[in-house]
Formats: sequence, C-alpha cells, structure tokens
Amino acid sequence: MGWLKDLKRRHDVGRHPFPEQAWREAISRLPILAGLDDAQQRRLGERAWRLLHRLRLTLPPGLDWGWRERLGIAAQVSLMTLEWREDDAVSAFTNVHEIVIVPDAFRRRVEEMDETGVVHEFDDERVGETSYQGPVVLSLTDIEHSGNWAGFNVIIHEFSHKLDMGNSMDVDGFPPLPRDMSAKEWHRIYTAVWDDLQAHLERGEPTPIDGYAATHPGECFAVTCEYFFSAPDELAAAYPELYALLGRYFRQDPLARL
Ligand SMILES: [Zn+2]
Repeated sequence: MGWLKDLKRRHDVGRHPFPEQAWREAISRLPILAGLDDAQQRRLGERAWRLLHRLRLTLPPGLDWGWRERLGIAAQVSLMTLEWREDDAVSAFTNVHEIVIVPDAFRRRVEEMDETGVVHEFDDERVGETSYQGPVVLSLTDIEHSGNWAGFNVIIHEFSHKLDMGNSMDVDGFPPLPRDMSAKEWHRIYTAVWDDLQAHLERGEPTPIDGYAATHPGECFAVTCEYFFSAPDELAAAYPELYALLGRYFRQDPLARL
C-alpha cells in the first residue's frame, strides 16, 4: 500500500515542524550543496520543504524514505532556482505535480519514423523521463549517483526539461528567459555549442561534454545544466561563453562553490 503511506506522509508535511536534523544530514550527503553559505542553505531548506508540501512523491513498493531522502531530492530541484525571486522560483515548476521514483533505469519501446517514412522500433534505456504536465520519473540508482561533482545529475537533468517546457510543450532547449537576457544571444551561444558538438562527432573525436548533448537541442540544454551545477569546471573549460550564459540565467556561480 505504497500510495497510502505516501498520502499520509504528504499530510504529515503540513503539520510536521521543519526536520532540522534530517536537513543537515541531507546537505552533508550532497557535495554540490556544501559550498552554499548559511543563508543560502537556510533558504534552500525552506524552499525544498515547501516543494515537498506541493508535490506528490511516489515511491516504489517497499522503499520507505524519511525526510532526509525526500529533502535531498527537493533540495537539488530547489538549487536550480535558488537565486531567483521566490515567486519566480515557484512558478518555474508549477508544471510539475508529481515525482515518481522507479527502482532502476527503465526500458521503453520507442517508435520513430525516419525521413523516408520507415518506422523504427527500439528499446530505449532511460534513467529519467519528463513530459509536458506529466510526472518527472527518476530512477533510484541514478538518484544515488547524483548530488556530487561528477557531471551527472538525473534530478537536474529532468527538471531542466520542465524549465524548458515553461513556454511551450516542446523540449527545444529554449526556456522562458528573464527580461534582462536576450533570446538572440541565447540562441547564438547554444547554436555554437551544438555546431561544435556535431563537428566533433563528424570528425570521430570525443565530444568536450557528454555526447548525449548532441542528440537534441533539448538534451543539449539539460546536459549543460547538469554540468553547470555538477561539473562547472568542465563546462567552463569546454564552453566558457555558455557557462557565463547559464550563470546569468540561474544567477549563480557554481565554480566558486566547487
Ligand atoms: Zn533528457
């Protein structure tokens, strides 16, 4: 009766006082949060706690998560918008109603039509999944591999897709931008990165960042967001202009925290 427990937990969030001890443990287990100062950690905790009030978190049967694990997920989501104004941070993810945790990477039958009209079917292994208005699906194994400075973070990846879908149903690598940022500049910088990734592939050379970024403009945005928060040194070295662009978009400088 996993859902029953989950409903009860959601109910508890409403009257449970903020679990200080669990929050300190959550932070200590997530190296990407370690460089935040006390005020930032406090704001992150408050926002993560409020996110848990608003979102439904569905766990696989048999997995009994306490506040530490729940806050750990919510904190990595809230990290992305930590330096945005409170109302902007809330509205960024109003299109997320539920996070579904699945035990491991999941396979899905995918059909794709090529230019000649032939439909190809294949098994697509995914570690996370997001759709417009749908839940964010995350694999437990990959959650466990997220949160350190390794250039991989399934939570940030999937929630980047949700940011991307803030202005259209398409995952197109073009999220709503703050008023002080130019869409033209965004497009120019991301196109240059995209072209560089494709050029590396054509030459048969390894790509400067995970080649998954070269599969789709939406994946390019999601993968570069992962790098921004979890391998800012690698992103800044490979694509300094893009690192600076994301720095203005997120209003953060993760390199300083590394
Ligand atoms: Zn993706």
